[in-house]
Amino acid sequence: MSRSTQSRGILREVQPINNSNTNVQNSGPVKARSKAKSGKNGGSKCAKHAQAGAFELSNEEWKSKLTAEEYAVLREGRTEDANTGKYVAHVGNGMYMCAGCGVDLYESTHKFEYACGWPAFHSNRVNAVKRVDVSKGNGPKKVEIRCTGCDGHLGHVFQSKRYPGPNNERHCVNSVALRFAPLSE
Ligand SMILES: [Zn+2]
Repeated sequence: MSRSTQSRGILREVQPINNSNTNVQNSGPVKARSKAKSGKNGGSKCAKHAQAGAFELSNEEWKSKLTAEEYAVLREGRTEDANTGKYVAHVGNGMYMCAGCGVDLYESTHKFEYACGWPAFHSNRVNAVKRVDVSKGNGPKKVEIRCTGCDGHLGHVFQSKRYPGPNNERHCVNSVALRFAPLSE
């Protein structure tokens, strides 16, 4: 099954934050998954829909597709409790996809250990994640990250020289927003 996360749709996306240095090149061609595990709701079942910018559902449709927890995070922007997500300490060779639409968001090589209570990634798949500045007034800068495919809320992105990777970034992502698909040998 060949699929691509690239589509013409993503070219329309406006990314308000200065992101000249935020999208890294893929480290190499990603092998096709022969056995992408889809979760309870078959998030990646429909390859046609698993394209950036191509997935739009009504709230009612989302409610029937997602679990209550997934809906609260992806569609309402809630945050799961720290240290409760299944991918916080998860390791494995594969791909973290959007639990809403199945777009490939993060490769396992992007993940790093960080004791914050949520999965941490230093980079994202090219054009898979968009950023929205949600800073309030003169408060600290706060940038939300959303799936480019379905506009689902993923978490937030922070910058610090302490973080590994080429962008000094930490994508703090709710496990509920993700679905892991191991790469076969
Ligand atoms: Zn999505």
